[in-house]
Amino acid sequence: MQKECKCGNTLSIQLRTVKYSKKVHIKNVPIFSCEKCEESEVLLDVKEDLTELIQKIHTYSKNQIFFNEINEFAHLLFVSSEKELIHIPIEDIIEQRINELLDILLLAQSLDDIKWVKETEKRLLQITDQIISNEKIYKI
Ligand SMILES: [Zn+2]
Repeated sequence: MQKECKCGNTLSIQLRTVKYSKKVHIKNVPIFSCEKCEESEVLLDVKEDLTELIQKIHTYSKNQIFFNEINEFAHLLFVSSEKELIHIPIEDIIEQRINELLDILLLAQSLDDIKWVKETEKRLLQITDQIISNEKIYKI
C-alpha cells in the first residue's frame, strides 16, 4: 500500500498514536508518513471513523483508546503486524477475519440483537469496502 508524498518520496503506512486534547491517546491509527520530510496524513478510508470517534470522545472514560478495536482496517493492520503472524499473507488474515465476522453475524442474528448485527455488518463493510475500492490492502 503506497502513496507518493509531495516531496516525491514514497509514503508508508504506520500505526501511530494520535494525541487528542493532550490527555486522550488514540492508539493504532493508520497513518501515511514520509521518512524524508515528516509529512503525515490519516488514511482517507479511516477518516470517517476517526472523526466519529473524536466527536464522541467525551463519552469515553479512558484516556487511552485503541482505534483497532473500532475500525476493521486498523484491526487488520494491527493483526498482520504482530510478530507471530507476520509470515501469514494478509489475504489469509482477511479471509479468516471475514469468516470470524460472519460467524458473529449469525450469532447476533440468532439472538435478535439488532445493535450487535448492525455493528458486525459495519465491520464487514469496512473490510469489503477496502478490498473492492482499490485493492489497496493487498499492496501493503
Ligand atoms: Zn515527504
